Amino acid sequence: MKTQHISDNEKDGIQDEFKKHLQPDTLIRVNEPLAQKTTFRVGGVADIYIEPQTEKDLSWSISFSRQNKLPFQVMGRGSNLLIRDEGLPGLVICLSRTGFAKINVEGPQIYCGASARLRNVAIEARKNQLTGLEFVEGIPGSVGGGLRMNAGAMGSMMSEIIHSIRFMDHDGEIHEKKKEELEFQYRACALLKSHVALSAILIGQPGKIEEIDQNMKLSHLKRWDSQPAASSAGCIFKNPETIPAGKLIEELGLKGKKIGGAAVSDKHGNFIVNTGGASFRDVMELIELIQQQAMSKRGIRLETEVQILDREAMLCS
Ligand SMILES: Cc1cc2nc3c(=O)[nH]c(=O)nc-3n(C[C@H](O)[C@H](O)[C@H](O)COP(=O)(O)OP(=O)(O)OC[C@H]3O[C@@H](n4cnc5c(N)ncnc54)[C@H](O)[C@@H]3O)c2cc1C
Repeated sequence: MKTQHISDNEKDGIQDEFKKHLQPDTLIRVNEPLAQKTTFRVGGVADIYIEPQTEKDLSWSISFSRQNKLPFQVMGRGSNLLIRDEGLPGLVICLSRTGFAKINVEGPQIYCGASARLRNVAIEARKNQLTGLEFVEGIPGSVGGGLRMNAGAMGSMMSEIIHSIRFMDHDGEIHEKKKEELEFQYRACALLKSHVALSAILIGQPGKIEEIDQNMKLSHLKRWDSQPAASSAGCIFKNPETIPAGKLIEELGLKGKKIGGAAVSDKHGNFIVNTGGASFRDVMELIELIQQQAMSKRGIRLETEVQILDREAMLCS
């Protein structure tokens, strides 16, 4: 696998090749800035950036990376990503186009494309008087990112509402697995660490609209009471078994601690916010400082929840 950035000449050649094979409404760019495509607003450029409109274009792009030994990375709404300032070599594939955004409800089953917003899924479920999905209302990600991260809130998580997932492998082939065949952990779906989610069928339960509204309202109020509004990637650390990460960081006296443009939120200890112009290095130094203090003062190992995208994190075939 090539882990160095591609030369400008090579990039132009690859872009031409993509344009020849992919349909016009698939977006293809070179040296595309990524910071504004993440909620953290941190990171450099992607050598090659594409937003495929169809599964066929996605499949061609993945097969092309494989044949040319180019690393690639998939992203959704960028709400759980920390991208290095030097940018990412190879291909960044963002599932954000309308071709992947459909949501269809049939009985208790909700078919969702990978780029559908989790918030829109909650709204569709409500419209169809289905309960059990209210917790995704305030999670600012896509279905694909939510599945990969086994996103959760209010004591519930994605794995509890999944019926099946359609996904693509590194040969660009499509498969489907039912929930029983999938392995989920806290904030992870094992399969999607190395495969691309295309869509999922989620399951709701028949419910009363007033109760669904009440659940959504509670979830909304709780979230905005505890969560900072500034740019962030959500919770930086997974909660250790013994204590919530935010509480631990608060007890370590690290709320408000600042390195460069990155600061531990005053509102929630497990959020690092970008106070303006934070670099990847600023955030990483703050993460490392918190991890060191958690270990030296409390003997607790804090593991990151945010997906740190550096060269090593790139997928390859
Ligand atoms: C203010 C704020 C609040 C948040 N609150 C919560 C919360 O309550 N609960 C929670 O769990 N999270 C929360 N998050 C984190 C984040 O929103 C979730 O993890 C979300 O599911 C990420 O989705 P995304 O589309 O933004 O994924 P991205 O950030 O784009 O990607 C995250 C990971 O998923 C992978 N990925 C993305 N799409 C696909 C795909 N189609 N197939 C395979 N892999 C894919 C990426 O490669 C990456 O590893 C919060 C974030 C913010 C900024």
